[in-house]
Amino acid sequence: MPLIVEKYGGTSVGSIERIQAVAHNIVQSVKRDEKIVVVVSAMSGETNRLLGLAKELETRPSEREIDVLISTGEQVTIALLSIALQARNIDAKSYTGSQIRILTNQIHGQARILEVDCEKVRSDLDRGRVVVVAGFQGVDRDNNITTLGRGGSDITAVAMAAALKADECRIYTDVEGVYTADPRVVPEATRLDRITFEEMLELSGAGAKVLQTRSVEFAGKYNVPLRVLSSFQPGPGTLITYEEQSMEQPLISGITANLDEAKVTVRGVPDKPGIAYNILGPISKAHVNVDMIVQNIGSNGLTDLTFTVAGADLDKSIEVLQPVVKELEAEAIVGDTDLAKISIVGVGMRSHAGIATTMFEALANKLINIQMISTSEIKISVTIDKEYAELALRTLHKAFNLEHVGSE
Ligand code: ADP
Ligand code: ASP
Ligand code: MG
Repeated sequence: MPLIVEKYGGTSVGSIERIQAVAHNIVQSVKRDEKIVVVVSAMSGETNRLLGLAKELETRPSEREIDVLISTGEQVTIALLSIALQARNIDAKSYTGSQIRILTNQIHGQARILEVDCEKVRSDLDRGRVVVVAGFQGVDRDNNITTLGRGGSDITAVAMAAALKADECRIYTDVEGVYTADPRVVPEATRLDRITFEEMLELSGAGAKVLQTRSVEFAGKYNVPLRVLSSFQPGPGTLITYEEQSMEQPLISGITANLDEAKVTVRGVPDKPGIAYNILGPISKAHVNVDMIVQNIGSNGLTDLTFTVAGADLDKSIEVLQPVVKELEAEAIVGDTDLAKISIVGVGMRSHAGIATTMFEALANKLINIQMISTSEIKISVTIDKEYAELALRTLHKAFNLEHVGSE
């Protein structure tokens, strides 16, 4: 019997009607003689609602207690879904992350999975049960509840699939697969039948939230067959695959905008060796990921260092850097959230020159000013004013003819 891990995101389990629909979907899988492990998210909006409650009490609440709080969202949906399955005569059993024992490190809010104990799950599956697992959470070695970062139910599903050596990990969501751009922003976006792990990793990392970045990384590393599909409509979805020589590669597979980045500029730093280290060292120690970095050419012995971080990390970054700025005798530190990072991604870029020129020309024609640029082998990212993000996406979608790349 094939073993399948099915993950249902927040919108897919966002109401009792949706939970009924998901239960119906799982019954179909069981009827196809598939062994099923289900991973669910909290009902849509619930994690944010819980975070809002904590913020009403304290602006910087304890990270440990936040994890205790927000992990409850998934505990609600595992129980409701199991009840819905039992009402359909399916023997279902729910587990929280700590009950399974999804062991993680101790970084609250961004914990990494170290080990998954599959014993209980296997024995339930052998008894013909459907196992329902709470996404987004684990437990550290001191039994503290941890969470895996926003969108983290995806990695729970992938980790369960890897540990169980599942035949497929199906990520059910509210769109019909991975598109050339977010179909809610670019109506002309088309669904890709396939996309490579590498491209998906870059797209997710650049803000396409259809899959959590770390889940893609994990699936690529452990060879987990991964498919994204809709829980609302039947269809083939998008398969995430390894690159095959024979695959005909579009030049660009997708474009995405990240509106959640913030820019930090340290102005007027004395221009001498060690600036980047002195400024970015404390940032990384505070577990803040830095994305783009620009150090301007200095004049009069002074220079500026600018970098981007996740918007949620802006306050923390500035706080961490206040003493550093003093120590370095820099002029000022400035935060800015009014930016969008626009990225184009495609393995075809490796063998084609001129992609960046097409991108810059298309943006210039719309009078969109580029602030920062960064590139990788298969990605080009630029930051621009936030207000032009949608225009930039649509413009680039057209410039690279992406409406003809996918299936719909
Ligand atoms: P879930 O709650 O199921 O985890 P998410 O909201 O995390 O769902 O992810 C699905 C959303 O990702 C879609 O509703 C869509 O708006 C967005 N999205 C962004 N970029 C893309 C893309 N390239 N292809 C498909 N969806 C995308
Ligand atoms: N509920 C969590 C979140 O909103 C995890 C998830 O949905 O994947 O981020
Ligand atoms: Mg998600």
